[in-house]
Amino acid sequence: MLSKLVKTLRNALFPPSVACVSCGREAVLNERGMCPDCAAGTELFNDAPMIKDIDGYTAAYLYNDVSAKMVKRLKYNNAKYLAEPLARAIEIPKEWDIDAVAPIPLHYRRYSKRGYNQSELIAKSLCEAKGLNLDTKLVVRRRDTKQQTRLSDAGRKRNVKGAFLADESCRGLNVLLADDVRTTGATLSECAGALKAFGCAKVYAATVCCVDPNHRGGQFN
Ligand SMILES: [Zn+2]
Repeated sequence: MLSKLVKTLRNALFPPSVACVSCGREAVLNERGMCPDCAAGTELFNDAPMIKDIDGYTAAYLYNDVSAKMVKRLKYNNAKYLAEPLARAIEIPKEWDIDAVAPIPLHYRRYSKRGYNQSELIAKSLCEAKGLNLDTKLVVRRRDTKQQTRLSDAGRKRNVKGAFLADESCRGLNVLLADDVRTTGATLSECAGALKAFGCAKVYAATVCCVDPNHRGGQFN
């Protein structure tokens, strides 16, 4: 009842049907919440190299100017309502048998600074849209890590090494990890490794954007 009221109020403040998820302009939007200009500038995700310890990976968009704007607004501009249309754009393969959805955890220090974890918002919306179970306790961050943006591929791997700790309740489960952007996949891989070390059966991953491995300048995320 209360959540319905909150949803109604939120929709009144940020009408999801009129503001484009990328540029924020009011326009006639497509089913992914985009104005015609942004829709034309969007590249849909097609395929990406596999990630170590990840049994399946999918994304909604290739990372470009248009999709970068969406995830940056969600992450830095407090545009939490964007999690819903962004998560809705992710298609989960039918053959994935998912027991629980886990967000990539944020260190508590960063969480208290930003006030929310964008991965958790995406995971939550994904669960609502696809009828899946959210479990934010399955994996936690045990130390803060540097921003991955300016790190080399090897540097990214080193940066997240040992950063996550899984809960033993993940034993035997098939878990879907949710995040905003995949660049090299180092973070997803490290998280999956932690889950599998505690007996997790399968780990899938879904992100809103995937950086095209052929056009990566190292300045993303
Ligand atoms: Zn737009």
